[in-house]
Amino acid sequence: MGHLMISEYMIQLYVKNDYHNYKFTACIIILLALAGCGSKAQIHQICQPLHIQKLARLENTYGVKFSYNDFAKPSWDSLKSDDLTETDLSRLKEYITLFSSEFSKYPPAFVVKTGLKQICFCKNLEVGRQYRAAIPDYYTETLYYDIYRGHTQNGYHADVIHHEYYHMIEQQLNGDAYYKDPAWARLNAPDFKYGNGGAAAQSVTDVGVYNHPIQGFASLYAATGLEEDKAVIFACLMVAKNHKKIMQWSQKDTILATKIKYMKDFLNQICSAINDDFWSELSDKNFGG
Ligand SMILES: [Zn+2]
Repeated sequence: MGHLMISEYMIQLYVKNDYHNYKFTACIIILLALAGCGSKAQIHQICQPLHIQKLARLENTYGVKFSYNDFAKPSWDSLKSDDLTETDLSRLKEYITLFSSEFSKYPPAFVVKTGLKQICFCKNLEVGRQYRAAIPDYYTETLYYDIYRGHTQNGYHADVIHHEYYHMIEQQLNGDAYYKDPAWARLNAPDFKYGNGGAAAQSVTDVGVYNHPIQGFASLYAATGLEEDKAVIFACLMVAKNHKKIMQWSQKDTILATKIKYMKDFLNQICSAINDDFWSELSDKNFGG
């Protein structure tokens, strides 16, 4: 009976909002499953049209599927996560709001070129017994995001959304998420050598802080590996306050300036909509200017 009442309520909502697509219905079903099909009070709590609309719009615009539980088997046995349940709803709603606003920055044609198929929102995400805020599964074209890990750090989740996506982009467009791009390597000072990769630096305090510690690098984390350096520049370009920071630093740092140009050119080759107008519009949105 509870199922029926909930379904009827949602169908009424569906018709009322005039959404003529099946993906929206699928989204509702996912949220109903998440709610455990409980009381009407729960439904009102979960299915605020605002949050449903945000995900439905992303699914329609980008052709990606969102999941919260019963994920397909990942490519690595060491990749583990827990499903979200009704106890996670309030965090999930906050996360959806952030994710929608960050992901909506991408032109749809760009996301199609990157091959992204699925986004899994989860908790207790880990790989090789190391907890992570996000993990890309390149082979299933899936991005996993832990809606909790690091969420109290200001701006961290917005950064992670773009950073992990970039690792998938590198795999898709350059054939290897750990591609040691020789053209990028040449942008560094001749005597510079990267560290042992991002995984080796996961537990180092403040390594990810954007403080321009070395010429050419936005953070120490960027210096741990070439693949991390590129992901850091990409994520910085996409997020308001970090974009502003790296543009300021680049005025007196030619290495950083050439990396930013390299990244913008690369993205423009993938998708012509990522052009000068795109960056200036993003800046307007980011900085309210
Ligand atoms: Zn990374």
